[in-house]
Amino acid sequence: MRIVSGIQPTGNLHLGNYLGAIRNWVRMQDEWTAQGHDCLFFLADLHAISMPHDPAGLRANTREMVAALVSCGIDPDKSILFNQAQVPAHAEMQWLLNGTARMGWLNRMTQWKDKAGKNREGASVALFTYPVLQAADVLLYQATHVPVGEDQKQHLELARDVAQKFNNDFGSEDAPVFTLPDPIIPPEAARIMSLRDGSAKMSKSDPSDMSRINLTDDADAIMQKVKKAKTDPEPLPATIEGLEGRAEARNLVGIFAAMAGVTPAEVLVQFEGKGFGAFKPALGELLVETLSPMATRYRELREDIEALDAILCKGALKARDLAAPTLARTYEALGLVRG
Ligand code: ADP
Repeated sequence: MRIVSGIQPTGNLHLGNYLGAIRNWVRMQDEWTAQGHDCLFFLADLHAISMPHDPAGLRANTREMVAALVSCGIDPDKSILFNQAQVPAHAEMQWLLNGTARMGWLNRMTQWKDKAGKNREGASVALFTYPVLQAADVLLYQATHVPVGEDQKQHLELARDVAQKFNNDFGSEDAPVFTLPDPIIPPEAARIMSLRDGSAKMSKSDPSDMSRINLTDDADAIMQKVKKAKTDPEPLPATIEGLEGRAEARNLVGIFAAMAGVTPAEVLVQFEGKGFGAFKPALGELLVETLSPMATRYRELREDIEALDAILCKGALKARDLAAPTLARTYEALGLVRG
């Protein structure tokens, strides 16, 4: 069994990125590799050029994301960690699959409709064919399982349709070219809100640095931000229902639960009747305890470009090896002559 998953590279990583995305990869890695399965995790830098972007920013974010992933527990000896741009088979495979994917299929993709909006004529061709690159990303490795959130289900369906049609058109029944990947629902991801506004997502684009906990923050900064986090004067209730209409309180309880690996209800059992004067220091300490070792590694590693590039290079070599046989079979099945 083989799991393949990608993430767009972003920089200035924060607690929301960690609890909402990175930690899930670490969990999947630990669970799957312990059972002897392969995990391939890639940075979707080729996908990033489908929208207007800044080249220097993309380069920096790709490396930052590797630093964050490794600091938070992705082990390049256990998982295959790489970026698409160093494995040309992704771009090649996309082109080969472009002959199979249908305009009508892509036209129905809700992400395309949402992202292109009213300006379809001005959208990039890459934005339109984005799901074909995603199909290439997983079919290239004969992935058996792909973790997908709600918004990506349609794209995985498309990857299966592309694989099925290609197998029908160019494979034989006893020797299909591609494995049809099954979706797996990733471990439930926490949605972390701003420390200044319980109705806004914690985000790197929030102008206030006090709204988020950055993965680079030291212990003092974390304690300070938690102390200043917006709350209300009420004590913590006994049950989740008591958090209704108290978005900020709910967010802090949610963060505590996610960091401690318990449910919000269990947090309330522990803190029922206590005010934020007692809860905030406990939350701050928990965050410092958990994040500090990662933050220290992250601060060091993100400066070490050579080490980061070596990690990506090593991952790319492994990925290229794994991709080679399927890529060769695809060329062959299409009747393309390669010396
Ligand atoms: P930002 O909103 O800071 O720009 P991105 O959009 O670059 O973050 O998100 C990168 C990944 O981190 C995505 O998988 C996204 O779902 C996750 N993520 C970002 N912010 C949060 C958050 N506040 N809570 C949970 N997950 C988040």
